[in-house]
Amino acid sequence: MALGAATVAFTPSVSFSAAHEPVAFVLPALDYPYNALEPHFDSVTMEIHHSKHHAAYVKKLNEAVQNTNYVGLSLEKLLKKIKPTDLAIRNNAGGHYNHSLFWQLLSPKPGAAPESLLKVISENFGSMEDFQDAFTKAGLAHFGSGWVWLVQDKKALRIMTTPNQDNPLMENILEQKKIKPLIALDVWEHAYYLKYQNKRTDYIKAFWQVLNWEAVAKQM
Ligand code: MN
Repeated sequence: MALGAATVAFTPSVSFSAAHEPVAFVLPALDYPYNALEPHFDSVTMEIHHSKHHAAYVKKLNEAVQNTNYVGLSLEKLLKKIKPTDLAIRNNAGGHYNHSLFWQLLSPKPGAAPESLLKVISENFGSMEDFQDAFTKAGLAHFGSGWVWLVQDKKALRIMTTPNQDNPLMENILEQKKIKPLIALDVWEHAYYLKYQNKRTDYIKAFWQVLNWEAVAKQM
């Protein structure tokens, strides 16, 4: 049954073609218009990022899984099975998962962090401010393209970065097996270059303005 392939845990949308055949992976619609995150994330970047970059990962992922053992797997299951040699699947499945999560965490009207999340962040990092400083530093220190993550590792929270479109669900990156991503930040230049050019610091500052802490808490 290939239906499972159409869903991501956090995007409960299943699409069907005219012939009612399940479509493998689909580009999730955003919950807000492309200009909704202005002035922090500009409209042109959002449109290109979603309708070109993310769409390309979805298209190439569907092409890459054809005639492989990955057909019909949900995205999360697929990510956990990826081998280092499955480069096209690895890059595009990661790209699809990472961006799907990223869009979900952003909002034009971001909610404040619930008390329970603030408490865990303070326990792990000292304070919200200390956490944001550490996360920002990790994002600035990451060389080249990749992602910055806040992950939940059993009860502990930690910050990590991954290169390219890798993510914490790919088991061959990490020894730990039950890591849950809570925050994902895209630090590829395509995410910010039009508006911020080389100023990744300003882009990360803008990210804090549109990060919806309620959505982060829901990931826990
Ligand atoms: Mn991106």
